[in-house]
Amino acid sequence: KFTGNFFYDYMMGIEFNPRIGKWFDFKLFFNGRPGIVAWTLINLSFAAKQQELYGEVTNSMILVNVLQGLYVLDFFWNEAWYLKTIDICHDHFGWYLGWEDCVWLPCLCTLQGLYLVYHPVQLCTAHAVGVLMLGLLGYAIFRMTNHQKDLFRRTNGNCRIWGKKPEYIECSYVSVDGTKYYSKLMTSGFWGWARHFNYTGDLMGSLAYCLACGFEHILPYFYIIYMTILLTHRCIRDEHRCCSKYGRDWKRYTAAVPYRLLPGIF
Ligand code: NDP
Repeated sequence: KFTGNFFYDYMMGIEFNPRIGKWFDFKLFFNGRPGIVAWTLINLSFAAKQQELYGEVTNSMILVNVLQGLYVLDFFWNEAWYLKTIDICHDHFGWYLGWEDCVWLPCLCTLQGLYLVYHPVQLCTAHAVGVLMLGLLGYAIFRMTNHQKDLFRRTNGNCRIWGKKPEYIECSYVSVDGTKYYSKLMTSGFWGWARHFNYTGDLMGSLAYCLACGFEHILPYFYIIYMTILLTHRCIRDEHRCCSKYGRDWKRYTAAVPYRLLPGIF
């Protein structure tokens, strides 16, 4: 998929699924192994460093390790679901994905732990419980929303969402070779609340990591700022693609589910 712009092609990638033989898929490997494993190892190292420097590990450090560790564990536990995400299904493998996976992810996602090594924060119980609740609620929304879509698509709508048959909009699209395909967009469950409520859950979890570091410095909050920009941009990027793919059917869907991330607001 060459665009004619060398720098864009280098950044975004040409190959969809570059491989060595049958078993080594570059995109899957880089997305799902070095960065995400390093994230947990680096966080644990920061906890060990706190112990070495101060003789104790603060509750904020434990919270960051537990909440982020849960997110990583979820990734491995639900790896089959991960194969259906935009990164794997639509993005090409270029510098952007490779650098993001190997450099950006392990540096950015461990900012809270790094901050807490040099600025240890012991939270009062109410603050710590609040952060834990927000983190767990965000994770639950993230997981349930993703699970609902996965189940809906896997069963072609023959499932139950919140105890009821799911509601959906029938869509069709035509591929480059002229073949017509049919698909469904769910409009019930969390997918009836907003078009990307999975991102909302993700953002709630991200905010919890930052709040665990207290309010003394802006640095740990870089994560939520970055994630808000990333996921809002991703939302717009995905909707642009879906609008070109489904055309009028997408308009019917956005009329049925008018909000993107926050029902009633955005
Ligand atoms: P989604 O899982 O939301 O997938 C979007 C695709 O799902 C659309 O392109 C469309 O594909 C299909 N779809 C959209 N609406 C519906 C609907 N109502 N019913 C059925 N199918 C629908 O996007 P992502 O892959 O971006 O995100 C997956 C998860 O990964 C999210 O929870 C996100 O927060 C997380 N994530 C985390 C990141 C991080 O750095 N922490 C980075 C990126 C993602 P189709 O063409 O098949 O119709």
